[in-house]
Amino acid sequence: MNTVSEILSKQELSKADIISLLSLTTKEDHDTLIKKAYSVKESCVGKKDYLRGLIEFSNQCKKNCFYCGIRAGNTKVNRYSISDEEIINVVDFAQKNKFTGIVLQSGEQNNIGFTKRITDLITKIKEVTNPEFRITLSLGEQSFETYKEWFDAGAQRYLLRIEASNETLYKKIHPVNDLHNYKTRLKCLENIQKAGYQTGTGVMIGLPFQTTEYLADDLLFIKKMGIDMVGMGPYLEHADTPLYKYNDMLLPLPERFNLSLRMIAILRIMMPFINIASTTALQSIMKMGRERGLKAGANVLMPNLTPGKYKSNYLLYENKPCIDEEADECLDCLANRVKMIGEEIVYNEYGDSEHFTKRKTIRKTEIFIHG
Ligand code: SAM
Ligand code: SF4
Repeated sequence: MNTVSEILSKQELSKADIISLLSLTTKEDHDTLIKKAYSVKESCVGKKDYLRGLIEFSNQCKKNCFYCGIRAGNTKVNRYSISDEEIINVVDFAQKNKFTGIVLQSGEQNNIGFTKRITDLITKIKEVTNPEFRITLSLGEQSFETYKEWFDAGAQRYLLRIEASNETLYKKIHPVNDLHNYKTRLKCLENIQKAGYQTGTGVMIGLPFQTTEYLADDLLFIKKMGIDMVGMGPYLEHADTPLYKYNDMLLPLPERFNLSLRMIAILRIMMPFINIASTTALQSIMKMGRERGLKAGANVLMPNLTPGKYKSNYLLYENKPCIDEEADECLDCLANRVKMIGEEIVYNEYGDSEHFTKRKTIRKTEIFIHG
C-alpha cells in the first residue's frame, strides 16, 4: 500500500487513492494531507478568502428531504418570507460592509408567482448596486427557462447541491416520488451550467448509509461535471426529521468533522482553481470550524446576514451557530478569526471561481478557432 506522501505526489488521484486518503487514521497522516491541500490553495488561489453575504429569505418549502429541519412536513416550523424591502436593506448593509455579492437562499418553491418575484428582486438589487455586484441563487430545482430568466435578469451564480451523487443513497435520504428525483436534480445541475451560471454543487458528509466509496465518487462526480464552486459540509441531525431515527449509525461528531476537512482537502488537490466554501455546519461542530476549513483548502465564507428575528426559523439542523446574533456582530468576529489563522479577507475583488474564468476563456478560444 502507498504511503500518504506517495499518493500525494501523484499527478492525478485514482478512486483507490481518494478512498485511502479519506480513510487515514493517524493524526500525522491527516495533517500531511491538510498541509498539502493548503500549499495547493496558497499557490493556486492564494491565502485569501472571499465573503458572500447569505440571506435566507424564506423557509417556505414544498419538499420533504428526510434530513432537513425546514422540510414541508415539519409542522413545528414558523414559516416566513422576508419582504423585498427588508432584503434590499440587507443588500445595503452588505455593500456598506464591502461585500461584493450576496447569496439568496430559500426553501424550494416553483410557481409563476415565485419565478416573477425573484426576477423582479434581482432587477431591484441590480438597481441599488453596481452591475458587477454578484448575485448567487440557491433556490432549488427549477425549469431551464426559469434558470435562464434569472440569469438574464442578472444573477451570475447558482448553488444546487447534488446532496449525494450515488443514486441509491439519494433515494434513502429522500422520499421516492416525482418531487425528489435524482435524475431531475442532475438535469437541473446541467441546465444551470447550460444557462451560463458559475455553477456550484456539493454533498453532505457523514450521512447514514454513506460509505467512503460513495464519498470518493462524490469528489469524482464534482470533477467530471466541471463544477466551479463547491459547498460541502457535515450532515448534522435534526430531531424533527425522518433521518433522525438512524442516528446511531452516524460517525461521532469529531470524526465527521475531520472527514469533512479531508473531503475539502482532497477536492482542493483535485481541482486547484475552484472556489470551495467553508460551511457553517463545520462551525456548528467546532467554534473554529470554518477557519479549520480554510486551512484545509476552502476559500469562501458565507456569513449569515439574515435579520436576527428570522434566524431561529431556518434551522436545517440542531445547534446552528450565531442564530442569536445580528449580522454586524458576526462580521466583527469573523474578520478577527480569519486574521488569527494568517489569512486575509479580500474586499476589493469579486472572487469569481478561477475555474469558471478559465472554462469561459477556453470556450471562447474554441469558438474562435472552430467558428
Ligand atoms: N432548498 C434549496 C435546496 O435544497 O437546494 C436550498 C436551501 S437548502 C436548506 C440548502 C442546503 O442545506 C441543502 O442543499 C442541504 O445540503 C443543506 N442541509 C439541509 N439539511 C441539512 C442537515 N441536516 N445537515 C447539513 N446540511 C443540511
Ligand atoms: Fe426544502 Fe432544500 Fe430543505 Fe429539501 S433541503 S427540504 S428542498 S429547504
